[in-house]
Amino acid sequence: MTEGVAKNTAVAEGDKPLILIVDDSPTIRISLKRAVQDEFRPLEAEDGEAAWQRLLTETAIELLITDLSMPNLDGYGLIRRLRENPAARMQNLPVIVVTGADDTAARERAFHAGANDFLTKDSDRIELLARLRAHLKLAQTIRQLEASQRELRAQANTDPLTGLANRRFFDEIAGKELSLMRRQQNYFCVLMIDIDHFKAVNDNHGHPAGDEILRRVAATLADNLREEDTVARIGGEEFVVCSPATNRLASIVLAERLRKAVESLVIEFDGRRIPVTISLGIALRPLDGDDLPTLLEVADERLYRAKQAGRNRFCVADKVSHADDGVSVDKIRPRMDEALAMIRHGNLHRLKPHLPALLEELTPFFELVNQQSAEARIDIARMREIAEKLKD
Ligand code: GH3
Ligand code: MG
Ligand code: MG
Repeated sequence: MTEGVAKNTAVAEGDKPLILIVDDSPTIRISLKRAVQDEFRPLEAEDGEAAWQRLLTETAIELLITDLSMPNLDGYGLIRRLRENPAARMQNLPVIVVTGADDTAARERAFHAGANDFLTKDSDRIELLARLRAHLKLAQTIRQLEASQRELRAQANTDPLTGLANRRFFDEIAGKELSLMRRQQNYFCVLMIDIDHFKAVNDNHGHPAGDEILRRVAATLADNLREEDTVARIGGEEFVVCSPATNRLASIVLAERLRKAVESLVIEFDGRRIPVTISLGIALRPLDGDDLPTLLEVADERLYRAKQAGRNRFCVADKVSHADDGVSVDKIRPRMDEALAMIRHGNLHRLKPHLPALLEELTPFFELVNQQSAEARIDIARMREIAEKLKD
């Protein structure tokens, strides 16, 4: 019985908001403590420095009552330290100064440092409690408002079914990334992605199965991207990815990775495995365009071509991969800058099949050298012979 009562009191005590009372006089601390303890749970500190240490460790403190003149760190210093701290908790903590004399200069200085209210030590208990309640309520309301603002902002940016970015947020991020890439004269790639025959999935397995697939595909896309890439759901079963500093070959590798990852998903619904594939269209800055609407349009046209060519594949520039032949990425010849990057990175096995074609691409340079210099002649016929041999 006694235990039960003690327990109840403890819970009620725990529900009271924590208040930190800072004063170098133990007598004043005791009298303030008595004044507030019916409604608040008081903690004490004997100077500004001790109060600061308490605030750092006791994150649940909701109100602060402080004296002004104290050893170590005075009230002004404590308030300034609070307001200069980057944590919102410190910046927004209500501070009520309770001081001996009603001195206008001190009052002005305290408000200037960031105090919220000012009372003299002879103010009565009723007034002190009323002010504390008002400040507590205000601080709580501000916190709630900020939380719902954050929530609203998150909702405005994300697609509720998959949790991915929505179109509006994608446009914002991709626009910024693209302008950075433009300034750095770097590559930027956009992938338009659409689930194949999705209507049939809905028709055969039902809408909940369709939703589950959308969530799984969304997670798979997100898992296979780099930190700096962005993926968004922009329509029923359409997604878009933007990837900064990604050249043509890297974008092909990325598209193929996403295609394979989705193709290998094992999705079962009501005991039946549902195969899922995607088609992708790739557009690149600077090759295909320099602004987001153009890149999205080009990526969309290429997505359409990938669909036309049989789905479960990607389309880039004027090439469509043949995913079902299993020859996708390596069939696509790297451009000269990409081939040089592959040599630098020791990525030679993928370059080998393209050597004859790359040598052929260099022929105009050799011809130019031959025209420019009478002595140093490059044997182009011999080079072509070697290239032919390399093909075997
Ligand atoms: P294709 O390979 O040419 O893309 O064929 P498809 O059937 O995927 O293309 P279509 O655009 O004709 O069909 C898209 C379907 O996506 C229509 C609709 O049933 C389904 N869909 C769109 N939004 C949602 C959604 O939020 N949930 C579910 N379950 N299905 C959706
Ligand atoms: Mg589709
Ligand atoms: Mg579609």
